[in-house]
Amino acid sequence: MADTEKTIREIRINPIVPSESVLVATARSMRPKKAEEPLARDTRAHVDTCPFCRGNEGMTPPAIAAYPEGGDWDIRIVQNLYPVLGDDRENPALTFGLQQTIDGYGRHEVIIDHHSHGIAIKEMSETHLARLFSVYRERMQQLYTSNKRLRYVFVFKNYGPAAGASIAHTHSQIIAMPVVPDNVQDEVENSRRFYQKHQRCIFCSLIDEALTFEATLYDRESGEIRRKIDVGQFVVERGQKFIAIKPFASRFEWELHILPLAHQSDFLAATPEDIADLARVLRRTMARLDAVLGNAQYNYFLHSLPHGTDCSDCNASYHWHLEICPRTSIPSGFELGSGLFVNTISPEAAAARLRAVRID
Ligand SMILES: [Zn+2]
Ligand SMILES: [Zn+2]
Ligand SMILES: [Zn+2]
Repeated sequence: MADTEKTIREIRINPIVPSESVLVATARSMRPKKAEEPLARDTRAHVDTCPFCRGNEGMTPPAIAAYPEGGDWDIRIVQNLYPVLGDDRENPALTFGLQQTIDGYGRHEVIIDHHSHGIAIKEMSETHLARLFSVYRERMQQLYTSNKRLRYVFVFKNYGPAAGASIAHTHSQIIAMPVVPDNVQDEVENSRRFYQKHQRCIFCSLIDEALTFEATLYDRESGEIRRKIDVGQFVVERGQKFIAIKPFASRFEWELHILPLAHQSDFLAATPEDIADLARVLRRTMARLDAVLGNAQYNYFLHSLPHGTDCSDCNASYHWHLEICPRTSIPSGFELGSGLFVNTISPEAAAARLRAVRID
């Protein structure tokens, strides 16, 4: 890390969800967490025993959909063998004293992202990535219309055992659930409150703010100014329609958010042109992360406006986004117990390192 970077020790308040704050503590001695090792790359294109590889379709439940249909699919959706929520039986909700349950009704599906077993996001073509996000959108739409009880369709990806992936073959998951997850609900409610006060989307305001700063890139060895650029210090990647930002109050060292530049509340409203640019920004962002972190284990997930919400403002106040969380350290008891996450790299320094990576 460059000497010019001063030590920071401060609690930063998440502007979207103020109850989520983070302790940014960058002193060298401040190493309260155990590092998570980068994963050894498995670059094999095909593994005979892998249920997600082409030719092994018999090892998974039948396909819900395959793209293209027929033999040589590139993307395939199957039911999860061990679903966390299911629609096989419906139980009534239960309330007894302080014990309250909601039926675990829902769907849990796996999207096999690519036929090639060990391919990384940065190695997928942008056309393929765009197709993958179109598949997410199509399946989300189908699930929302399939049953009115489904309140949220959650799309996410786990990569690496530290991120919860139990199968090495690249894949994403969809969980359609009867409740809106708290993380999304908090964002929806807080951004709505901001909107009612300022008549503005807080995410749009954040993007404007990020683009207002100026940044200077230093050569890490000589310390000389290499380039002055007029994008913000929290901006990592910018496309025609999307921007990748390192949040000012990031809970995780290398956490990044990708947002549409033009206001849009619901991922389902994204056009094919939007998705093509998202694919480009995501591929380049993942290439930057891999260049800095090695083969990082990570999660990414979509936060989009829940359906069936009784909120006339929310189309104007909420702004969908993709959150990417590389898992570079194991949360400590302090973090889990207090809810105060410790970030040992300042978000502006992390953004500068990611920006400095040269991408083709
Ligand atoms: Zn495989
Ligand atoms: Zn917005
Ligand atoms: Zn979010």
